[in-house]
Amino acid sequence: MMRMEKSLLMIPGPTPIPPQVAAAMTQPMLNHRGEAFSALFAEVSTKLQKVFRTAQPVYIFPGAGSGGWEAALVNTLNPGDAVLSVSIGDFGERWHKVAVQLGFAVERLRFEPGRAADPERIAERLAEDRERRIKAVLIQHNETSTGVTNDVRAIARAVREHGALLMVDSVSGLGALPLEMDEWGLDVVLTGAQKALMCPPGLSIIAFSERARAAAEKSAMPKFYWDLKAAHSSLQKWQTPYTPAISLLHALKAALELLETETLEGSWARHRLMGEMCRAGVKAMGLRLLAVDERTASNSVTAVVAPVDPKRLRKVAREQFGVELAGGQGDLADQIFRIGHLGYVVPGDVLQALAATEMALAQLGVDVQIGRAVAAAQEVWMNHVRG
Ligand SMILES: *Cc1c(COP(=O)(O)O)cnc(C)c1O
Repeated sequence: MMRMEKSLLMIPGPTPIPPQVAAAMTQPMLNHRGEAFSALFAEVSTKLQKVFRTAQPVYIFPGAGSGGWEAALVNTLNPGDAVLSVSIGDFGERWHKVAVQLGFAVERLRFEPGRAADPERIAERLAEDRERRIKAVLIQHNETSTGVTNDVRAIARAVREHGALLMVDSVSGLGALPLEMDEWGLDVVLTGAQKALMCPPGLSIIAFSERARAAAEKSAMPKFYWDLKAAHSSLQKWQTPYTPAISLLHALKAALELLETETLEGSWARHRLMGEMCRAGVKAMGLRLLAVDERTASNSVTAVVAPVDPKRLRKVAREQFGVELAGGQGDLADQIFRIGHLGYVVPGDVLQALAATEMALAQLGVDVQIGRAVAAAQEVWMNHVRG
């Protein structure tokens, strides 16, 4: 039987886009040096500051999230600078690699997959650096590959004491999970449009603290595309140094309007509810979360130890039950599957993802009782509604 083509995308990016966002992209092209563009860019930039919780300017580059890693490093550091890269998963490893390839003296502080970074271990390492050789600390806010969220606030306290710049990759966090750039004292925060911000891929968004911008004044790293100073001087006229991704900026404006209507705190609460529902469902199926300490489990993506080959599980979930789940990355590819629940995703979608997972597991001969996971998640939702 042919199936009606409607499927549910439950991967941690790219995420589904709201109809308003899709419609916004069909607007006619405009002159990127004209007033209409400047008005659009001003509006998007100002709205983004509220999502970053910063009074500092936010810069938008056409690009993938990964571009933000490079932008953070080449704008604030000098050739050969010492960098402490804290890694709790595959995205941490990738940022580490970027820093190595750019020639920095990178030291890696690694935590095993499933664990969050220990702020005390970071503090201890920084305390040993009496000569203040370490110029920057790199960390993921939310490690999408393992479904673990770092305690960025506590890490920021440790880094503040030392004086290095704290650079935070919040590609799968910003908009979904609490983050206070100014209040917590974060120096660089970067994200992409295609995760919690509910847009198609293609925008790399980054903010720098005053300290980071002061460091940028002295940075001797070569750069062109990611040059903060050029972006900053264009931003004074609500322009960009080169052609902006105009259609994506229309999309982002529509998405930020939706986020404003929900409120940022409302979005954080929705993601917390979806995280709790998902974890309750997973445990009710008798499966194990990859997150070792559930208090550090992410509310934007849940990583689950797979009781069968995760590729087969995902294939059945996709082909027979219409739900696209994510696999594991790197060494975890054969061990886990992930349920993304961030961005334009609602609690009902989590029920559907759990139902499909349960049915796919049953199809593959795993001993699960159909309906258990959904019931457990419903219970969480009902309790939330009742308050
Ligand atoms: C998705 C993601 C990235 C990379 O984004 P791309 O757009 O694929 O370059 C970086 N960090 C984290 C934590 C992510 O989830």
